[in-house]
Amino acid sequence: CGIVGVIGKKDTTQVLLKGLEKLEYRGYDSAGIYVNNQDGQDYLVKEKGKISDLEKAVGPEVQGLVGIGHTRWATHGEPSDTNAHPHVSQSGRFYLVHNGVITNYQELKTTYLKDVHFVSATDTEVAVQLIAKLVEVDGLTTEKAFQKALKMIEGSFAFLMVDRNEPDKLFVAKNKSPLLVGVGDGFNVVCSDAMAMVSQTKQFIELHDGEMVIVTKDHVQLMNADGETIERQPYQATIDD
Ligand code: GLU
Repeated sequence: CGIVGVIGKKDTTQVLLKGLEKLEYRGYDSAGIYVNNQDGQDYLVKEKGKISDLEKAVGPEVQGLVGIGHTRWATHGEPSDTNAHPHVSQSGRFYLVHNGVITNYQELKTTYLKDVHFVSATDTEVAVQLIAKLVEVDGLTTEKAFQKALKMIEGSFAFLMVDRNEPDKLFVAKNKSPLLVGVGDGFNVVCSDAMAMVSQTKQFIELHDGEMVIVTKDHVQLMNADGETIERQPYQATIDD
């Protein structure tokens, strides 16, 4: 239902939780965050229920320099801690949040991913397990695996992903679900609704269906479905925090 992400800020956890609070009005049944300190330490906290429950479950040790967050409105799989996002690959390397519905998830599960052990009942977990397999079994780079997965997945999606082995990047893509990149000074953010991040920046880059983006703390690399770089200037958001 709602997506937030941030890279390059010291108060990552607070930025994520505040962003999720701003999206609460849309309705949700669960919420979660993944935070990585870019020095080998990371945290995954997700809970069925309110963002205030998530906030209670997030201890003071949960700090980092890159993070993603999600409020879920369940479409596949009941509301539960396990079905809440972020979802993680079997290997523990890839963490992903998703808005939308993957229509061919059952088919991917029974063909290409038939050897994978799934822990959730969501359509979303297929995306993160698919990218992990393309990297870990087929030997693609994370960027190429992400790009290839976008062509294999059908339906609507906004994806935001972190690779534990490359925690200086956010992997971003969308198709028929909204997603924006917010441009800061020495940091960048990602959100499904500018409302979530206007307290951080007013400069947003709109993403179009089929595009993917690699976001670092000081760079936004926008690409088309074939990996060719696209230039697009940010617009100024007119809403206030
Ligand atoms: N289809 C996904 C799920 O059920 C995402 C739902 C959403 O957009 O929140 O987990």
